[in-house]
Amino acid sequence: MTKKERFAKVLDFFASSMPAAQTELKYSNVFELIVAVVLSAQCTDKRVNMVTPELFRLMPTAEKMYAAGQDRILELIKSVSYPNSKARYLAGLAKMLAENYGGNVPESTDELEKLPGVGRKTANVVASVYYGAPKIAVDTHVFRVSARLGLTTEAKNPLQAEQQLQAGIPEKLRAVSHHWLILHGRYVCLARKPKCAECGLTGLCKHYAAQLKNKPAE
Ligand code: SF4
Repeated sequence: MTKKERFAKVLDFFASSMPAAQTELKYSNVFELIVAVVLSAQCTDKRVNMVTPELFRLMPTAEKMYAAGQDRILELIKSVSYPNSKARYLAGLAKMLAENYGGNVPESTDELEKLPGVGRKTANVVASVYYGAPKIAVDTHVFRVSARLGLTTEAKNPLQAEQQLQAGIPEKLRAVSHHWLILHGRYVCLARKPKCAECGLTGLCKHYAAQLKNKPAE
């Protein structure tokens, strides 16, 4: 099977099994989205969704978050992973948005990446989820699932995986593909014990084929 055919079959599968995939983070505007995405680094969306309602109620804008300050942010996000660093990032992010962008969140990934706590992945998530940009954000789930399915080949880092995925996924499907791969990784293709028996992609999956090949004969 060519790489092109592999991409087409995998994307067809997800398009029919998860047509309306979207982020599980709760937000109601782009400021809330970027804050939630910063908080979600190495933390579950479920945990983030537990702290953001109060955070957004008290600090609904960049200006208000900046005025509240790092210590107050920390009190509200204590239960997420790496709260000290994230409180520092959010205080810096709010300051920069308030002072340099009139409280708005920029649309371009180059501008987004200038914000504290915002790397390439977070910038791509915001650009694709909120602004519909044809970007693929590669997190740990996307990286793992893409490699197992053979959509990426020997990618050594998220950037290489992103480039291979961008090359294989048509523009109009890139934003949603990010969610397909994340959700598949979160609920089916788990890191340690993938639930292959529940997966509809066994016929396409390189990792599954390799496991079958290495299985001792009974
Ligand atoms: S067959 Fe198994 S390893 Fe392959 S994508 Fe499905 S769950 Fe993951």
